[in-house]
Amino acid sequence: MTDLTEPIASLATELSAILGERGVTTELRAREKASADGSYLSPIITEQLPLGLADIVAFPTTAEQVAQAVAAAVRHGVGITPRGKGTGNYGQAIPIENGLVLDLSKLRGVIEVGNGFLTALAGTPIVTIEQAARESGQQILMYPSTAQSSIGGFLSGGSGGTGSIAHGSNHEGFVLALDVVHATPDAQLVHVDGDDAQPYVHTYGTAGIIAQATIALEPLQDWRGLFASFDTFSEAISVIREIGQLEPTPRLVSADLPVLANALPADPGIPKDRASLRAIIDIAAVPAATALIEAAGGRVEEVREGPQTAMKLSMISYNHPIEWLQKSDPGKYFHIEVAGDALVDRIDEVHAVYPGGMLHIEAQKNRPIGMLAGIYESAEKVYEGFDKLAAIGVGVHNPHVWFVDHEVERTLALAESTDPRGLLNPGKLQGKNVVEATS
Ligand SMILES: Cc1cc2nc3c(=O)[nH]c(=O)nc-3n(C[C@H](O)[C@H](O)[C@H](O)COP(=O)(O)OP(=O)(O)OC[C@H]3O[C@@H](n4cnc5c(N)ncnc54)[C@H](O)[C@@H]3O)c2cc1C
Repeated sequence: MTDLTEPIASLATELSAILGERGVTTELRAREKASADGSYLSPIITEQLPLGLADIVAFPTTAEQVAQAVAAAVRHGVGITPRGKGTGNYGQAIPIENGLVLDLSKLRGVIEVGNGFLTALAGTPIVTIEQAARESGQQILMYPSTAQSSIGGFLSGGSGGTGSIAHGSNHEGFVLALDVVHATPDAQLVHVDGDDAQPYVHTYGTAGIIAQATIALEPLQDWRGLFASFDTFSEAISVIREIGQLEPTPRLVSADLPVLANALPADPGIPKDRASLRAIIDIAAVPAATALIEAAGGRVEEVREGPQTAMKLSMISYNHPIEWLQKSDPGKYFHIEVAGDALVDRIDEVHAVYPGGMLHIEAQKNRPIGMLAGIYESAEKVYEGFDKLAAIGVGVHNPHVWFVDHEVERTLALAESTDPRGLLNPGKLQGKNVVEATS
């Protein structure tokens, strides 16, 4: 660790004492790796990359080390960007003001599984958590399609996924308790539960770093992976709301146009050049789902058992069809996040908003949501489409900005006391001052 300027040099020395030589690095390749995330999905963000470069990367392996590392960074006035698996697709994990990236991917382990809850360290992969829950006869309420990502990253940067039809977003009762670290010179683990834990969810670590999380579990269900196909996308989406409302509630119902389905990894359940509908359905609801699909002119290709099938279907849901589309035709497409019944009722108008418009759709309890892809021309053209979508009743979430956009006022108010110097994920919480180097 030569040629480091202050305060990074002093922080590196202190972190090495806390985490050991292997727990901290200033190697350029490691810093570059820690400064990129899933925002390659956005051509608008990609045009602005690199957005920042970590000066130093640290890898705590215990919750206590997280607190010690944060305290050290605060004493040196260095900004701290927490990082899980780095799959967040809005640039949330990029250290925009440089400084320390606290890579929590080695902070792993399921600590306790009880009746209706599971406690894990923040870097634990969600697939590991789902498996631990299953071994206890339970299941996690929801997980993102990036199931290999960390629970801390999902809570801080994600919102929902498989399970969201029944349970909504991850800030709606999914989290029971957290052990968080605030940005103070004497930082320690702070236990928050119930309502007090919710303000830390989906706020990109700007109000506190999650070291450990306790999440809700529910009794395990007997899931089936259902693969169906249709001649047209209109036929496929004509039943998505009804399938989403079956009882017991499905865990996932996704549908794609033939072009998007063709871009997915080859699978006998997803025939080429046909619209695809895929669902994770309780075994008790399979006959009703089959009847709906056949009445709409579709055919059930396969019904598969086993947790691997459910995981596979999850991993080709939400943003993933867009990612596969981009892989099949690099540099061509952008997407935005959309919601509303108009996605079904006015699909031709929705597709017409952007050249090459293509919707990937997901059932939810109240209204479908989706990812609307189009051919990328410029950021201006993308934003022009927002008003057109609003005019036909489609809600839009912009996935091309890295600012916290959930409960901003509440987060700012909380961060006043938990991060008085604006050192947590600097540049992500609008209105918050960025790092002032004081050492
Ligand atoms: C193809 C694709 C598909 C996706 N599908 C989904 C989906 O279905 N549902 C969904 O919700 N998201 C989805 N995402 C977004 C993202 O993958 C998930 O939200 C994922 O769970 C984030 O976890 P991570 O470990 O990768 O977090 P990271 O990307 O490392 O971090 C995400 C944010 O949380 C902060 N953070 C990380 N760990 C902590 C911590 N312990 N404490 C405080 N802050 C922390 C980071 O600073 C960053 O702001 C998708 C992304 C891609 C690229």
